[in-house]
Amino acid sequence: MQEIHHFVDGQTVEGTSGRTSAVFNPATGEQTANLHLATVEEVDAVVASSQAAFEEFKTLSIAKRTKLMYKFRNLVEANTDEIAKRLSAEHGKVLDDARGEVARGLENIEFACGLAETLKGTFSSLASTGVDVTTTREPLGVVAGITPFNFPAMVPLWMIPNAIACGNTFILKPSEKDPSAPRFIVELFNEAGFPPGVLNLVNGDKVTVDRLLDHPDVKAASFVGSTPIAHYVYDKGTANGKRIQALGGAKNHMIVLPDADLDLAADAAVSAAYGSAGERCMAISVIAAVGPIADPLVDAIKSRMQNLTVGPGDQSESEMGPLITREHRDKVASYIGIGADEGASVVVDGREQQFEGDGYFLGVSLLDNVTPDMTVYKDEIFGPVLCVVRSESYADAVDLIRTNPWGNGAAIFTRDGGAARQFQRDADAGMVGINVPIPVPVGYHSFGGWKDSLYGDTTMYGPEGVHFYTRPKVITSRWPDPANSSVDLGFPTNN
Ligand code: NAD
Repeated sequence: MQEIHHFVDGQTVEGTSGRTSAVFNPATGEQTANLHLATVEEVDAVVASSQAAFEEFKTLSIAKRTKLMYKFRNLVEANTDEIAKRLSAEHGKVLDDARGEVARGLENIEFACGLAETLKGTFSSLASTGVDVTTTREPLGVVAGITPFNFPAMVPLWMIPNAIACGNTFILKPSEKDPSAPRFIVELFNEAGFPPGVLNLVNGDKVTVDRLLDHPDVKAASFVGSTPIAHYVYDKGTANGKRIQALGGAKNHMIVLPDADLDLAADAAVSAAYGSAGERCMAISVIAAVGPIADPLVDAIKSRMQNLTVGPGDQSESEMGPLITREHRDKVASYIGIGADEGASVVVDGREQQFEGDGYFLGVSLLDNVTPDMTVYKDEIFGPVLCVVRSESYADAVDLIRTNPWGNGAAIFTRDGGAARQFQRDADAGMVGINVPIPVPVGYHSFGGWKDSLYGDTTMYGPEGVHFYTRPKVITSRWPDPANSSVDLGFPTNN
């Protein structure tokens, strides 16, 4: 059995707690590793390493940081297949999807390679006679990242490149369910030549997270995960005076107007609902079908579902892999029965598909005639179950998004430019797609939802990420002409 430990100061540090968490291959149900969970004292030692590294690292020139970031970028790209293999073996996603995850992570490293431009600051010459004003953005110190199971490579890469390019040192606490890909990425980062301690990795659970949020030397934390934990992390971290951005769960709606291109909408619905087994925070989980398009749309989605191949992520014919754990698979499956009991029509029941072996597989499901009072509508199912709500009008469909407690992504499918433009304004969500079902922003924009999908006021990566990981310093300097210098006790008048 493989033992997975922490990675601190450029090397493996063996866990001493005796507390471990089992890592499984979801395609087979076999345990593949023991993950060692940190104690409070182990977390303290990691923070001490990161703090010591910060004292040196904050003086490293932007030119040197940039060169190292390019090396890291190239190592990640060269190792895409190996990272994807690890992702698939512990998360279950198909290899193509896993490679896509690495590609989206690379975008964020590439943005950080160009950070010299963003960190230039501002300068006002002659703000007053003999006075110049400069604003610089300076690093915070030690910052932490706590990441979820569903994007074990990409989400850490939403945080690490910007945080470190800005001059901070970083502690990653990855999900305990699939720790091997993030661990490998941290090794690649150290191989690129960054000084030891600039990026440390500590494995753990609530004990680790709590200590990171309590430790006075941790200045900020980025969190991505479920809404209850995001809320908890935000409350605890901010009560301790830290800067916190905490991204939570989602229920993403896709409105399909009667004039939409039916094939485009049906293709998009299937890939956005069932890709990565629906375990994406930007997955479409509700279709709001407006008026007469509902019947043909449900038929078009159903016919496409019949062609989907569900199987192990490392087999080339598989289009969708297993769910993350047996418990999660069973919970997702239970929603199909709950939906039926509450009055939804089960168009396709994923429980009927049979699979060999002990993998955590579940077929894809489609529930029609779902209403907003049903549990399947209200809960984040986080699995391959798509709900269709039939709306009488565009206004009714938009109202679903407006009154939903989450606001991560929202999409509309239509051929009407005016309706699309109106939706852009009406959608109560942080990321909006127009004929795009999963509007994840590119690396030079920023990612984050509204309402219960984000606690904090700064979204992640891109320019907002730079803002989060730096604080401004304004320098007002006065160099009077030596020939005219005199003492003046008055307040400056700008005359
Ligand atoms: P999770 O909340 O269970 O875990 C996230 C992280 O928090 C993990 O590192 C975990 O170890 C830690 N954690 C778990 N319980 C904790 C506790 N009681 N105290 C402190 N830390 C704790 O989430 P998950 O199941 O790994 O990920 C799935 C969820 O993440 C879904 O709700 C999904 O929507 C959400 N998600 C959101 C985004 C986004 O951008 N908004 C992106 C990806 C995933």
